Amino acid sequence: MLENKVGMIFGVANQRSIAWACAQACGQQGAKLAFTYQGERLKENVEKLTKDMPEAVIVPCDVTNQAEVDAAFESVDKQFGRLDFLIHSIAFAPKEALEGEFLTTTRDAFLTALEISAFSLTQLSLAAVPLMKDGGSIVTMSYYGAEKVVQNYNVMGVAKAALEASTRYLAEDLGKQNIRVNAISAGPINTLSARGVKNMGAMLKHIAEKTPLRRNVEAREVGNTALFLVSDLSSAITGETIHVDCGFNIIGI
Ligand code: NDP
Repeated sequence: MLENKVGMIFGVANQRSIAWACAQACGQQGAKLAFTYQGERLKENVEKLTKDMPEAVIVPCDVTNQAEVDAAFESVDKQFGRLDFLIHSIAFAPKEALEGEFLTTTRDAFLTALEISAFSLTQLSLAAVPLMKDGGSIVTMSYYGAEKVVQNYNVMGVAKAALEASTRYLAEDLGKQNIRVNAISAGPINTLSARGVKNMGAMLKHIAEKTPLRRNVEAREVGNTALFLVSDLSSAITGETIHVDCGFNIIGI
């Protein structure tokens, strides 16, 4: 399905990362992939995970460092000369902002969360456009806390709301170039980042009882949806936020 397509994947920290599930789904369909990692400590993880992908490009990219972002896209240009899809699966907020009341969010925590978790989608899209010569697809990861109040999610919910709005504005700007931009609103999954949210265990248990499917979503299922969104099967879908949450968002009382 993705033979001859080149994708760039941001946000693999370890084998539990949603980004890694996306990489596996796209890799199995023949995509050539470039991975970015944040900081030297994650380089080894990404190298180990991708050892069976000989063509994979692995480059450092902290989105708060524009020189690293530019260099990452230059590496992809040098290696492949094109880009067909980009998966943005990164987010960060200081741990102390992910508990207690949203009211006490500091300016620093707010700016950091919004910069890394929301602005980076626009930043990376701008860098990707020149390489998306035959159109393309950009996918980002959101969460229900963008729409409704979720205890402890706080500033990250505000960042995800900005991320989903950015998805729509980018979809309008880039549609002329046949570049689609969509978000996946994933149900909670026990990853490294998720552990930063207080009471994650209790939330997973509650959700498993309440969803129409009576279970939590698996990273693999989010990866498969990303595969759909970067493939031509979704060629008329742009600006959407698709829930991959076992139906949790449709439940009222
Ligand atoms: P992971 O911790 O596996 O992935 C998050 C990634 O973001 C890490 O690789 C992390 O690197 C990276 N990151 C953080 N700061 C930066 C930065 N400055 N520059 C570049 N990369 C950075 O967790 P998930 O797979 O759970 O998260 C992936 C995405 O999915 C996030 O956007 C998250 O909000 C979203 N999501 C997660 C859900 C869940 O329940 N797990 C539910 C819905 C959405 P590092 O480890 O070095 O910080």
